[in-house]
Amino acid sequence: MVRTALCHCGKLRLTATGEPEWVNLCYCQACQRRTGAPLHAGTYFAADRVEIDGDSKSFARPADSGYTMTFRFCPHCGSNLYWLASRFPRHIGVAVGGFADPEFPAPSFSVFEKWKHPWLGNSETMDQFPEGRTGPPLGHT
Ligand SMILES: [Zn+2]
Ligand SMILES: [Zn+2]
Repeated sequence: MVRTALCHCGKLRLTATGEPEWVNLCYCQACQRRTGAPLHAGTYFAADRVEIDGDSKSFARPADSGYTMTFRFCPHCGSNLYWLASRFPRHIGVAVGGFADPEFPAPSFSVFEKWKHPWLGNSETMDQFPEGRTGPPLGHT
């Protein structure tokens, strides 16, 4: 299995061969701010199974664990496509969204649930739309 992950503009490309080592969600505040979304979905592949094409810039920060996270992002569109975690020096972390593939393996665990937006936890009680929201307009009339 060969999968390709792309940044928003497509100039930064990552190809991963084989299956991911793991997939997880993270609700921490740093991930919320980095992604602009209420959660992060990430996966890790063995570094020797990953090829990267295209320029990237990096932003490094210490993680709560004390290890360093170095996020690589496209200098043209700003997408954070992958990252290096000093805790996992033989792996490369990849944004699951970069694959834009609903068939991508599901997460097996999530972390920082304490920062989770409560509405994320009860999908059975929410309306679920296959694409954009349909129905009455949002907001007060
Ligand atoms: Zn880009
Ligand atoms: Zn996080």
